[in-house]
Amino acid sequence: MWKARVFTLYPEIFPGPLKKGLYGKALKKKIWDLEVINIRDSAEDKHKTVDDTPFGGGNGMLLKPDILGKSLDSSIKKDERVLYLSPKGKIFDQKVAKDLSKEKTLNLICGHFEGVDERILKTRNIEEVSIGDYILSGGESASFVLIDAILRLLPDVLGNEKSIDEESFENGLLEYPQYTKPQIWEKQSVPDVLLSGDHAKIKDWRLSQSRDITRRQRPDLWEKYLNKKKNEKY
Ligand code: SAH
Repeated sequence: MWKARVFTLYPEIFPGPLKKGLYGKALKKKIWDLEVINIRDSAEDKHKTVDDTPFGGGNGMLLKPDILGKSLDSSIKKDERVLYLSPKGKIFDQKVAKDLSKEKTLNLICGHFEGVDERILKTRNIEEVSIGDYILSGGESASFVLIDAILRLLPDVLGNEKSIDEESFENGLLEYPQYTKPQIWEKQSVPDVLLSGDHAKIKDWRLSQSRDITRRQRPDLWEKYLNKKKNEKY
């Protein structure tokens, strides 16, 4: 069973969006598990202080390493991977999602305020992971993104591995456009080729659409795709 253990100052917002639909059902069926740890429970003073001002000055507050350390040490087992959601981290993408889906238990630390005391990262062997080049107010929404992307890769959660194979990023290209009924809607018809019943032709059309979209919207991915194709030839 794949498990996420989340360290947060806002435990009440979990499982939040992960409760819905197939994810909620899979959670009930124990296909995956979620453990939520309130970092504040490890605070020791009567005000339950978890943060303090940065040495050297500057805005905002940082999560204290002693409190966070205590919280982590009381739950994390040996050899489990620990991730800190952070704008300074390595970018999370489909490849990283696949890699993380193979872990048994994944620990996710949601930061707040200005972040965490740097020393916690080294002493606890923590990997920093970012969901993109922007700053969120806290790591919770980022942890939802990670868990969501990972859950749909687990066998038995969506129950449809084939559709995952054809999605954006799987072959280095974005997905082709898709259409459903009605066949004509607001005077717009779906592309003829999709009604032809000719599977080879449909496959070709989809690939060419995928290539066009990727070239237009994501020149960075397009370049990578072309390089990969070039290397495959040799
Ligand atoms: N001062 C920090 C930003 C702190 S934002 C800096 O400049 O790097 C507060 C918290 O939100 C962080 O501790 C982190 O857990 C989370 N967060 C913000 N942006 C994020 C992003 N792009 N990806 C993942 N987590 C993020």
